[in-house]
This record gives sequence, structure tokens and C-alpha cells, in this order.
Amino acid sequence: MARQRHAEEQADYERKMTEREEKEAQTGKKTRGRAPNEAAIGARRPAPQARGKAAVTFAAQLDFEHVSRRYGEVYALHDVTLEVSPGKVLCLLGPSGCGKTTLLRIAAGVEWPSEGRVLIDKQEVAGPNRFVPPEKRGVGLMFQDFALFPHLTILDNVAFGLRALSKVEARAEAQAALERVGLGQYARDYPHILSGGEQQRVALARAIAPRPGVLLMDEPFSGLDSQLRESMREDTLAIVHETRATCIVVTHDAEEAMRMGDSVALMRKGHVVQTGTAPELYRAPETIFAARTFSDLNEMGTRIESGRAETPLGTFPAQGLADGVQAIVCVRQGGVLLAKPGQGTPGRILDTRFLGDVGLVEVAVEGLDTPVLARVREPDVPAQGTEVGVGVDKGAVLIFEAEGGEAEPSA
Ligand code: ADP
Ligand code: MG
Repeated sequence: MARQRHAEEQADYERKMTEREEKEAQTGKKTRGRAPNEAAIGARRPAPQARGKAAVTFAAQLDFEHVSRRYGEVYALHDVTLEVSPGKVLCLLGPSGCGKTTLLRIAAGVEWPSEGRVLIDKQEVAGPNRFVPPEKRGVGLMFQDFALFPHLTILDNVAFGLRALSKVEARAEAQAALERVGLGQYARDYPHILSGGEQQRVALARAIAPRPGVLLMDEPFSGLDSQLRESMREDTLAIVHETRATCIVVTHDAEEAMRMGDSVALMRKGHVVQTGTAPELYRAPETIFAARTFSDLNEMGTRIESGRAETPLGTFPAQGLADGVQAIVCVRQGGVLLAKPGQGTPGRILDTRFLGDVGLVEVAVEGLDTPVLARVREPDVPAQGTEVGVGVDKGAVLIFEAEGGEAEPSA
């Protein structure tokens, strides 16, 4: 059902874009029609002076200002402020239902904010003063459940949004976009002969063919197996950089966000809870939610005393937390050190799992009810039953206040 709804919306979105383009072509207000190699990103953006023949390539600045979206009593988005600099890739990361798709749809213009504004190149495109329709925004949207038209050739699928151009021009542009994603040779074939990854590329070609200044992709790799996903990520990034479009990629996979994004915005329950580069978010998560998103953690509850957090694995300085506060000490799995008995806290290996370059080791630790998980280099994985000494790399420790629901230990 959801898939069908998405497909219908997608077709509707594309039809609207096309109708607008046809109208513009008739009235002579043509926004495209350049030679295929002429760099003209921004040609379809709202500022009229940005259009025309000029071979200027400048990607768009995209801003969300205090954007909220309410459905009845429920806030799908709550006071979201974000900026994406021209030509940069922002990854929107968060669990299912946190509002990622809603934010993309608002940027694209197929949904509108209840409060706040969206600006493209500092011009309001959605907000109290103005609503620029999707086809006028110069925004390309790749839907989560993208669907190719089965009855159209691959070339015509890509040319679908280019009907403002003459047929010859549209096909030349579509062919160029197909070549760019490495599928030029399939132009005359029909989508069913393509693998999932190839269909994905066609959808990407279709999104970039109109040369949008802003490209929005909703979980573009979620339908692919992990190996294909890896190579598609790299290829997609290369293509996005080549088009110089400003880009938002939605994902619920932290590793994907860290790999792809120039910056990452972490969302939770309609809020953007932290924004930064991947290393910033990984090294300095502001909440235990962010910490859990970016690392596999061991968590231990304790009370702060004399500015320190005492745990069976050691005592750690607890900066910024007052004495008496209930806290959760988090240790990244990679920061648990296994040594010979006699060093650190006594422990015993309960189980080991092979993960390739590293092994995941389950250790029973004196004083802790739950076993500790350690990631160690595969050659260093001790045998089951071995007595060990357990230590902690101090750089792998994060401490959060345990007040409210925010910092409850995870199950
Ligand atoms: P995500 O893409 O992060 O999974 P969505 O943006 O799709 O999340 O949804 C965010 C929240 O808004 C969810 O709770 C969802 O049920 C709700 N929502 C989205 N669209 C609608 C709608 N048209 N009507 C009512 N609720 C909606
Ligand atoms: Mg979604």
C-alpha cells in the first residue's frame, strides 16, 4: 500500500513538473534548453535572474528555519533549523518515524510547514509569505520507493521530466544523464531487464537530468544488499559532486551517514538533536541517544561522587555533572581492553563471535550483572573460558546524566 501511494505521489510530482515545463515552453519562458554540456545548475531556481543562458554553475543554499509540521495533535517535525551550504551533502539520520521524509517533502514542496520557513538561496520558498510550487524550486526528489515506468524505455523514463525541451534535446540530455550513471548502453531497453542497483541508477539519472540545484534522496540505498549498497554510495557521491548540486541524503544507518555526509543532522521524534561533521558527532555526542547512534556501547549506571564516576571497570572524571547525580557511564565496545589476569578488573570470557577483522567478545566482569562486550582484533580474541583482566581506554568513555527518559540504560 505504502509503495503504491509513494509511486502515485511520485508520478503526480513528476507530472506537475512536466506540465509546468510545457506551459513555460509555450509561453516562451523557457527555463532550460541549453546544450548538454553547458553547466547550468540553478537555471530552474526561483530567482529569475539566475536563469537564462549564462553557463554559471552555482549550487543552491538550502535553509530550514524553525520548521514544524503538525498532523492533528502530533508533531512530525518540531522547530527544525538546518542549513545546507551550496554543493554540500547533508545526511539526515534518525530512526524510523522521526520526520526525515516529512522534512524532505517540505523542501521539495509536496508538503508544507505548519510553522517556519524554507529558503533556497535566501529566498523563501515555503513559509507564511510565500509558497513556491515544487516545479519552480529547482529541486530534484528521489523517492524512497522510487518506481520506474515499466512501459517506457529506460531513456524515456529519464527523459520524463524533460518535456519542456524538444524531443531531440530531451533525449540528448537523458542520454547524457544515463551515461553519467554508467547505463548509456541500456537506453532502448525496458526497466525490467535491470537489476535493483541499475534501476536505482536510472532513478538517479532521472533526478539529475533536469539539473536541479538541490537534490533530495530519501533512503536511496535501503532496497539494496550490503555489498551493492557500498558501491552505490560511492558512485552516487561521485555523481552528486559532479553535478555540484546541494544534496540531502536520508538514512537510518549511522555508518552510511558518516561516510556520505559533509555534515550529519541527527533527528529524533521530530527534533534535530545534534548537527555536525561525522567526527564531531562520533567523538562528542551531546546525548546518550547520539552516543548510542554512533557507537556500540556498554552502559553502567552509577552515582557521581567527588566529581567522579565509579564503576567496576574503573573510576572516571565526570566533568559537568554534579555530585549525587545518577549517571550512565558508557564505554565503546572497541575501548574495552583485555589483558592478563591481575591487571584491571577480573573477568572471564563467556563467548566469542567472529566478525572478520575483529571479534566480538562477551566478558563476565566482577561486580557487573550484565556481561561486557569487547571488540578486539581477531588474532587477540581469547578462547572461551579464559580468565582475563579487563581495562578501559579512557578515550572511549562517555558519561551522561541518567535523569528523565533520555538517559535510561538501553535494554
Ligand atoms: P521517517 O521518514 O523519519 O520515517 P516520516 O517523516 O515519514 O518519518 O514521519 C514522521 C511522523 O509523521 C510519523 O509519526 C508519521 O506517522 C507522521 N506522518 C507522516 N505523514 C503523515 C500524514 N500525512 N498524516 C499523519 N501523520 C503523518
Ligand atoms: Mg521515511
